[in-house]
Amino acid sequence: DTLVNQIAAGEVIERPASVVKELVENALDAGARRVDIDLEEGGVRLVRVRDDGLGIPPDELPLAVSRHATSKIASLDDLEMVATLGFRGEALPSIASVSRFALSSRRVGAEHGATLQVDGGRVGDVTPRAHPQGTTVEVRDLFYNVPARRKFLRAERTELGHIEEWLRSLALARPEVELRVSHNGKPSRRYRGGGEERLDFDDGAARLVETLGEAFAGATLRVEHATTARPAGDDGRDGAPALRLHGWIAQPTYSRASADQQYLYVNGRAVRDRSVAHAVKQAYADVLFHGRQPAYVLFLELDAARVDVNVHPAKHEVRFRDARMVHDFVYRALHEALSATRA
Ligand code: ADP
Ligand code: MG
Repeated sequence: DTLVNQIAAGEVIERPASVVKELVENALDAGARRVDIDLEEGGVRLVRVRDDGLGIPPDELPLAVSRHATSKIASLDDLEMVATLGFRGEALPSIASVSRFALSSRRVGAEHGATLQVDGGRVGDVTPRAHPQGTTVEVRDLFYNVPARRKFLRAERTELGHIEEWLRSLALARPEVELRVSHNGKPSRRYRGGGEERLDFDDGAARLVETLGEAFAGATLRVEHATTARPAGDDGRDGAPALRLHGWIAQPTYSRASADQQYLYVNGRAVRDRSVAHAVKQAYADVLFHGRQPAYVLFLELDAARVDVNVHPAKHEVRFRDARMVHDFVYRALHEALSATRA
């Protein structure tokens, strides 16, 4: 089975940033309000993710590191859930097959914690261990037993950069969660949590300053646009907007705008989409006569049934059922927001 897991790891675990992504997403799934991420050597030597979530009972630790033992499969009938699923129950076994891995946890309400080590896929025994409520996953020496993969890892700075970029994108979407990062034993980043569940203006703006800086936040325009109009035959949910776009776009006075400061989220998930990017850029050019790449953080929300998130294994892309309608909606939303500045 170790080989199967290593093959699975080959598909989804590309570098330390992929490990961080999987572990932090698990922490958030477990209801964590605070996540600590300790890294050494760009995450190659160590990725340790500790959360204050629900925790795992000792007897379920072996399940968590075995294939397809996901707690989510039982509830697959929930569409929203399918939309948020990663690669179902493969992350921990995959990561554990290509690293020196330890999973420690204490379940909410339980008196004792426990730990389980996996070394290159060889699963050890569950042993008692003191642990605060929540879970710690430790991943050491990524790809130590797969030299062909290890040699594709880049310099410490580069790997750290990938991790920081992913965390920035997550931090923007989840302002309620506190994230603390250390690198080589020194605190390197902190995103304060405590905002509202969904991004609202004030909390989101605080997080915006933390992630993208004062200059960006100071130059942004608020975008908030929704429509209840639906295509014929689509009843949707009562009163729910068919489409909603909210977030911020920087005005041309923000001089550091570039294509890597374009954050788009569809139903809370960071994605890249050419058609939406085009709609934003077009509105920018039409209203502000400004042809350069705009910088933005935009959240698009629509019924899960109207967007296919399973286009790409790592899920950075989506396919809209009605791409034209989405494009035009985004264009109108930005046109309106930007026009307000010229009045
Ligand atoms: P998936 O997230 O797709 O279910 P994973 O391999 O990422 O698969 O995790 C396997 C299982 O281990 C999860 O379904 C969950 O039950 C448990 N688990 C993993 N990480 C945590 C965590 N930080 N807190 C609580 N449970 C966790
Ligand atoms: Mg997972």
